[in-house]
This record gives sequence, C-alpha cells and structure tokens, in this order.
Amino acid sequence: MTAPPDAPPELLRDTLGRPLRNLRLSVTDRCNLRCSYCMPEPDYVWLPRSELLTFEEMARVVGVFCSLGVDRVRLTGGEPLLRHQLPLLVRRLAAEPRLRDIALTTNGVLLAELARPLREAGLTRVTVSLDTLHPDRFQALTRRDEHGRVLAGIAAVRAAGFGGLKLDAVVMRGRNDDELLDLLAFAREQGAEIRFIEYMDVGGATRWRWEDVVSRAEMLERIARAHGPVEPLAEDGPPEERGRAPAERFRLSDGTVFGIIASTTAPFCRTCDRSRLTADGTWFLCLYARSGLNLRQALRGGASDAQLASMLRVGWQHRTDRGAEQRLALQQHREPLAGVAELREDPRLEMHTRGG
Ligand code: SAM
Repeated sequence: MTAPPDAPPELLRDTLGRPLRNLRLSVTDRCNLRCSYCMPEPDYVWLPRSELLTFEEMARVVGVFCSLGVDRVRLTGGEPLLRHQLPLLVRRLAAEPRLRDIALTTNGVLLAELARPLREAGLTRVTVSLDTLHPDRFQALTRRDEHGRVLAGIAAVRAAGFGGLKLDAVVMRGRNDDELLDLLAFAREQGAEIRFIEYMDVGGATRWRWEDVVSRAEMLERIARAHGPVEPLAEDGPPEERGRAPAERFRLSDGTVFGIIASTTAPFCRTCDRSRLTADGTWFLCLYARSGLNLRQALRGGASDAQLASMLRVGWQHRTDRGAEQRLALQQHREPLAGVAELREDPRLEMHTRGG
C-alpha cells in the first residue's frame, strides 16, 4: 500500500539510528568578521564564485532533503547576510510546506537593515553570535570595529517581531570568560536566551588549545557561585524530539534560562540529526568530517530529484560519524583538526565554509 501524498515521510536513519531532520545551509563562505576562534589567519582561499549554488539550486536541494524527512533549515556561513538578496532565498524556502522552521545564525553586523525583510520573507528564528559586551574587546576578538552594529542588529530583531531570539557566545579562557554573568544579564534584558559554547577544535580554529577551553562544568560552577543553584531543564516536546538540540538548558532561581553547548567536553553525537551543505553544494555529515559529497556536480549534471534523493538516502544510511566523540577520545593529545596548509588546500574543511 502506498502512503497518501501528504503523509510525512518515514524517518530516514543512519547506522546509529539517528534520523535525518536538520539541515544547515551555508549560503556563503565569506565573512565580515575575523573571529580568533574561527578565522584567525591573515588570509583565506575562497570558494570559486561560479561554483556557488544559486538560490534556485539551493531551494531545489532543500526540497529533496525535505522529501527525506528534513523539517528544519538553518541558514549560516560564513556570514549569511553577506549573500546578496538573502530574503529572496528565504521566500523560496518559506514556500516549502514540509519545512517547519527556517532559522538564521548571524554575527548581526548587517541585521539592522535586514531583520524586517527577512521576517517578511518568512524567516522564523534568529540566533546572533555575541561574545562580548565590550567594544574594544570585540575589536580584539574579531579584528573589526562593528560592536555597535551588532547591538543595533539585536535590537532590530525584536523590533521586527521575531520571538525566541538566541545569543551564542563562544567562551575562551582569558578572552571573555569573565563575562559569563554580564552576558547572562544582557540576554535577560533583551528577552533573549543565551547559549555559551565551548571553544571547539574545528577546522579553521588553528589557534585552538585545550588550556583555552572553559568546560561546561566550569561554566556551571561559576554561574552557580554567583546565582545559587542551577536547575537543569527537562526538554519539552514528545520523546522523539528530545535530545535533538545541541544545547542543554538550565534555569536560575530568578527564572533566567540559558543554554550550554558542550561539543568539546560532552559531545551530543548520539543524537545528532544534522548535516551541512556548503555554499558550493558539498554535503557534510559531521562538523568534523574530512570529506563530503559533491551534490553540485549531480545537480548541474542533470540529475533528477529522484536521483538526488537516492544519493542522499544512501549517504545518510551509511553515516557512522561521531566526530566530536572521536576528538574527545584523543584526550590531552587533541590539536586543531587541520593545519593552515591543509585548510588552504581544501577550504571545505573550514568551519566558515561548511557552516557553523
Ligand atoms: N557568521 C555567523 C555567525 O557568526 O553566527 C554564522 C557562522 S559562524 C561559523 C556560526 C557559529 O559558529 C557562531 O556561533 C560561532 O561562534 C561558532 N564557532 C565558530 N568557530 C567556533 C569554534 N572554534 N568553537 C566554537 N564555536 C565556533
């Protein structure tokens, strides 16, 4: 018996039983900041422009992903707002009825101009990266003097009527770890939920060192010292939805809720349902994967939707990746995933290319 045409697809599962549900779509590898944990080098090799997927190609591939069970897309990069006319892509994606959520991760520099058009185009949620409340420190961390524009961008998200604003802060020892409490207070004032991210040894983090990582345990301990008991929050939603989000959420006694993304010391590989598509159409099954599948070639070579779906299905069913857990197993021998020469040889190893 065949399922009715509007029935949700059977969940496609990998070798560890993890469903394919979440797609991170990198719309550009370019960025207008140079964060020390992501792009610390003086210069970079960029993807050739002719190889970047058009919006039409992106929307088509997303449709194929949706036919296999993907129901959430997050636009990322590089800095996604640098992609010319991004609201047009959002409008196309919003026309896909199987997508329940179209989110954006941005550094916020261009948000003041774009928050409203993105909202009108159908974007559902925004996450802004904000690592510090001090303009001079922002400049030292990002090599750009844009702190004021980021704050204006955060204000614009609220003015545009988005709910559920999230702020992401990568916590680095000696750089911004003294701001945990101030960032918590700032997020609360803004009606946002902050997530503290452990510094990760991903491709591109060429200056990563264990000593600079502030662990989830240490963050919780410091927050509890100032605010009293920190209550872990049970996850909402049906059982099959739980464990999907990378952040563990906590509540303080005054009701403030925050998250920690502990990919470095407590990876969530076991429940990871996300994959990543780079702006040039390379599909990665793990943030730490060494190689991906070239979907652009298939797209531009005339593959049908059914052929693309078959490539994705086979790829996901064979997925064994547990990148962050394997990194953790290296213990004290852990070093950056890739060296500078290797990254120049294959820029798809970069976090800013595969989409954070
Ligand atoms: N440009 C956008 C932004 O800044 O949000 C989107 C891309 S950025 C690569 C996505 C996320 O990756 C950001 O929240 C950033 O802080 C995070 N990130 C990049 N490198 C990281 C690292 N080494 N460890 C932890 N998080 C990192």
